[in-house]
Amino acid sequence: MDDVKRQLAKWIDQDRDTIIGFLCDFVRAKSPNPPGDTTLAAAHITRFLEAQGLPFRVIAPQATMPNIVGTFEGRGPGRHLVLNGHIDVFPADERNERWTHGPWSGAIANGKIYGRGVADMKAGTSASIFTYAYLYRIREHLKGRLTLTAVSDEETFGPWGARYLMEHHPEVHGDCLLNGEPSSPLTIRFGEKGPLWLEFTVRTPGAHGAYTHYSKSATKLAMQLARDLEAVTEIKPEISDNIRAALEQGHATMEKAMGAGAAAAVSAVTLNIGTIRGGLKVNMVPGECVFETDIRLPVGVDQSQVLGVVAKVLKQYPEATMRETQFSAPSWCDPNGEMVEILQRNVTALKGFTPIPIVSLGGTDARLWRYRNIPAYVYGPFPRGMGSTDEHVEIEEFLHIVRVHVLSAYDYLMRQ
Ligand SMILES: [Zn+2]
Repeated sequence: MDDVKRQLAKWIDQDRDTIIGFLCDFVRAKSPNPPGDTTLAAAHITRFLEAQGLPFRVIAPQATMPNIVGTFEGRGPGRHLVLNGHIDVFPADERNERWTHGPWSGAIANGKIYGRGVADMKAGTSASIFTYAYLYRIREHLKGRLTLTAVSDEETFGPWGARYLMEHHPEVHGDCLLNGEPSSPLTIRFGEKGPLWLEFTVRTPGAHGAYTHYSKSATKLAMQLARDLEAVTEIKPEISDNIRAALEQGHATMEKAMGAGAAAAVSAVTLNIGTIRGGLKVNMVPGECVFETDIRLPVGVDQSQVLGVVAKVLKQYPEATMRETQFSAPSWCDPNGEMVEILQRNVTALKGFTPIPIVSLGGTDARLWRYRNIPAYVYGPFPRGMGSTDEHVEIEEFLHIVRVHVLSAYDYLMRQ
């Protein structure tokens, strides 16, 4: 470790209480999505950036969903690293008494910080913000450029956050992206699956429940159709050798980080029937049934392949129609990229284990960079209680994520 890197590590140790306090107050600044109003939480960030004298601007194509973008140059030419995290979080039922501490408490207990969004992903976004702040202090030692993007409108695939920035502000593209979405300190995510949501409607004339010879049942047809749609799970992905090798190497780690069965799910098309509504009354033959499917595409499967199989199945059901309601393609970058190697080296030096590159099941804004062929990696805390009650991060794990982001961003910007 060189002197500057040692200095960075020392600052993080000295500022321990400040960093923890920042995250607790960030959680208290409610930003549930829906509705997605992040003005309180964004103000918490801008107050910090102002107090530290850091350059930034607010880009808010939608007034209640501001994005914060900061950037600065090092001493000489070099590469451009972009840090990204989201400000909005899942909603929480405030009357739900199953929370040991309130969902917006930002409470500290047993070495953990509690609250909605602390893991997904206010801890990771805080890591990006402190990385930006510390590297600004030593910018005379850096090459290239560092950009911070703290965005809104992530949780509902909204158009006003990272998607807006990527489309309208090419200055945030950069050469590499680092993101602290919850994953696990044991893994580095280089890719993610892509959701394809389809809504099916089955319509028949309907009838009195005793007159089943008058009309086909919309619910029965829907149930058969849903079962036949399992055909999409037979589609096999086509992947390159380096991705295949990474998936094989990451098998045990994926099972550990995301549960038994995760490694198989990562490489397969999965089908979930999320909702189903049909019929009005028990003694009527239903004339309408609507159900929604959440199909997840692995790396190496195209949307057109899936829609081809769906169209073939639908041909058997003239009573059914289909509508696409959401799609994000699966995304990936080099599992052995330079940032992976940098992250691995820093984690090994700090903790004695080496994080493994994997593909994740859930989605992040990192995909938007990968779509533009910019390598984008995720290194964040365990997703404890994410989307559920008692969401929390362990304080030491959070500080570890901050350290790894700061030191890895430094290493990346020191190289030519
Ligand atoms: Zn997230």
